[in-house]
Amino acid sequence: MLFNDKVILVTGAGSGIGRAAAMHFAKESGWVFGADRNETGLDETAGMMSASGYRFDRLKVDVSDEAAVAELVRTIYDKAGRLDAAFNNAGIAGGNHWLEDYPSDLFAQVISINLFSIFLCMKYQIPLIRRNGGAICNTASVAALTGPGGLSAYAASKCGVHGLTRVAAMENASKGVRVNALAPGLTDTPMVAATRVENVAFDNMARTAVPMKRAAQPDEAAAAAVWLCSPAASYVTGQMIIVDGGLTIGGFEP
Ligand code: NAD
Repeated sequence: MLFNDKVILVTGAGSGIGRAAAMHFAKESGWVFGADRNETGLDETAGMMSASGYRFDRLKVDVSDEAAVAELVRTIYDKAGRLDAAFNNAGIAGGNHWLEDYPSDLFAQVISINLFSIFLCMKYQIPLIRRNGGAICNTASVAALTGPGGLSAYAASKCGVHGLTRVAAMENASKGVRVNALAPGLTDTPMVAATRVENVAFDNMARTAVPMKRAAQPDEAAAAAVWLCSPAASYVTGQMIIVDGGLTIGGFEP
């Protein structure tokens, strides 16, 4: 029971990796606050949590809105009196556009939701987590390490998450707060499901480009985030853990 008596915030808890992480934290006895802008998704997660007898509070929040993020952290403090860990994971893909055709407002929106939100979340979480010590995991992506054509805003935002994570880790290493990032590869969630159905080449990518010849299940990515936030990773900070079935090995099968 890695999170006995611990309070954990998961953003993007209404779907995919965030939902899997919420379940996983709760299975380890954590009290999970799940935030998302999608109320239907949050309701589904809440239903799964209660069916398993887990403690879960749902909070509708747009993580790119500073006042809403400040209120989110205040609500957790008012209700639970502490925050021990945060998995800052909400994000969007932003569609596929060649850089020269990328709509500028969409680029700004992707940066706002995927990167600015991580700054906002940590800005308000860190003072609270410092009180008792704890950990943060931010969701980046293998897109921070590769050049996924069509995903310029996404890749830029995830590189930013990597950088922010290292700065926050440095600033808090001696203050009892570890900060790491998770870099999932291709993971079977609603974010990629639609693209895989529409795009055969993309679907084939899971079997051709990924050495393990399959996409990850959400829980396989979430498990690494849970580990990073747990006492089992007590000497790990400032790192980006890659969970990609070997996608970024860069070698070849003989
Ligand atoms: P998903 O679409 O299943 O879940 C993302 C969740 O974030 C959704 O519930 C959505 O409502 C929420 N969200 C989006 N914008 C929000 C906002 N402004 N405020 C609050 N909530 C918001 O996708 P997923 O695959 O589970 O993605 C989770 C994270 O993992 C994202 O940061 C994504 O970039 C990252 N990631 C995913 C993959 C993949 O292949 N699925 C790969 C690498 C990284």
